Amino acid sequence: MDLVFSPDELAFRDEVKDFLATKLPEQIRLRTRLAPSYVASEDTVAWQKILYAQGWGAPNWPVEHGGTGWNAVQKYIYDAEYQAADCPRQSPFGIAMVAPVIYTFGSEDQKAQHLGPIISGNALWCQGYSEPGSGSDLASLQTRAVRDGEDYLVNGHKIWTSHAHHADWMFCLVRTDPEAKPQRGISFLLIDMTTPGITVKPIISMDGHHYLNEVFLDNVRVPATNRIAEENKGWTYAKFLLGHERTGIAGVGKSKRKIERLKDVAGTERNDGRALLEDATFRARIGRAEVALRALEYTSLRIMARESAGQGPGPEASTLKISGTEIEQTLNELLIEAMAYYAAPYPADALDPERNEPPIGPDHGVGLMQEHLLRRAATIYGGSNEIQRGIIAKAVLEL
Ligand SMILES: Cc1cc2nc3c(=O)[nH]c(=O)nc-3n(C[C@H](O)[C@H](O)[C@H](O)COP(=O)(O)OP(=O)(O)OC[C@H]3O[C@@H](n4cnc5c(N)ncnc54)[C@H](O)[C@@H]3O)c2cc1C
Repeated sequence: MDLVFSPDELAFRDEVKDFLATKLPEQIRLRTRLAPSYVASEDTVAWQKILYAQGWGAPNWPVEHGGTGWNAVQKYIYDAEYQAADCPRQSPFGIAMVAPVIYTFGSEDQKAQHLGPIISGNALWCQGYSEPGSGSDLASLQTRAVRDGEDYLVNGHKIWTSHAHHADWMFCLVRTDPEAKPQRGISFLLIDMTTPGITVKPIISMDGHHYLNEVFLDNVRVPATNRIAEENKGWTYAKFLLGHERTGIAGVGKSKRKIERLKDVAGTERNDGRALLEDATFRARIGRAEVALRALEYTSLRIMARESAGQGPGPEASTLKISGTEIEQTLNELLIEAMAYYAAPYPADALDPERNEPPIGPDHGVGLMQEHLLRRAATIYGGSNEIQRGIIAKAVLEL
């Protein structure tokens, strides 16, 4: 593996750096830096429109649908610079998840209807997979779709549906054949969230924010033309999508930013007149996280090198999910520890731009507790880390 970038790649990196430095609105950058997991939907959409205008709305898509045609090294450089520049994460449900399903398996009409609004930031999506009794064991899902003429009538209950309250569309797994084996009786539907019979109820997470939802479907009429490809083959498309969900999950750039912030906070905050960064034990803990992050970066680079050689990421990508989320959680904990008592006061509106009161404690502590509480869930969603370990045990270690 050659880790030295070529002159062309370095020129590309400069172009990306320059674009991100000049085109990302400063307020959005500041808000993202404070709490990267809390970017408002309006900021995400505004930024998506800027990326789209540049032709970078969906770098991973095929060129004919609006992708950039970058090779794997360019994509790696772009991702690293993107995260290092405090850019908001693109809404993943449309661009990274459902769009690849649509352009790979969808009809021409579905491509024409959906890909444009997704890449241009004009349609937001949510993911209707999980149900109260079906999370890790997703194939047991019960939401039922019964054919009625040209439509399906859908009844069921989805849960943990992130951003359903902002979404225009939901991609949804439904059971179309209750007699078949669980994986064989599932279909993949695209559902307009304004259809009568859909009720979205908020779930407030422990950070006090509204991000998650329950979605109730009560006799929701969905045209059969909104089904992706074949009836009862939805599991194939669902698994294809989950592969895309893991892409970029390592978050190396984001964690690098967190380490910088941690060193800043630990170098400033004083206990008995001494900065925490002077404490050898605390420094060693930062060092351990940094070493783990470096190892993760090299694993990402190895996977990238395989992709450059035309091979898929493979089940090893599960290690990215496990290490990436564990490192992030460790860094969040160290940041909370470094802020000591100032981490305790918790105004849930601390990140609200309309808030008039100054932060309690130093500015560099704003948003840390929110981020810490919300990201406890990172080891659960996107396939829990226990499930990822199961994949490694089976597919990599052949246990
Ligand atoms: C913040 C957040 C956002 C989410 N957003 C969405 C969304 O937008 N759309 C959506 O559809 N879903 C979403 N989810 C749901 C998420 O995909 C599920 O929570 C996840 O798949 C786990 O399912 P579960 O919660 O039912 O837990 P369960 O599957 O009941 O698991 C409970 C525990 O048992 C462990 N476990 C289960 N099976 C095994 C096994 N075979 N081996 C070892 N351990 C096992 C799990 O790791 C976990 O610790 C979100 C969840 C969270 C927390």
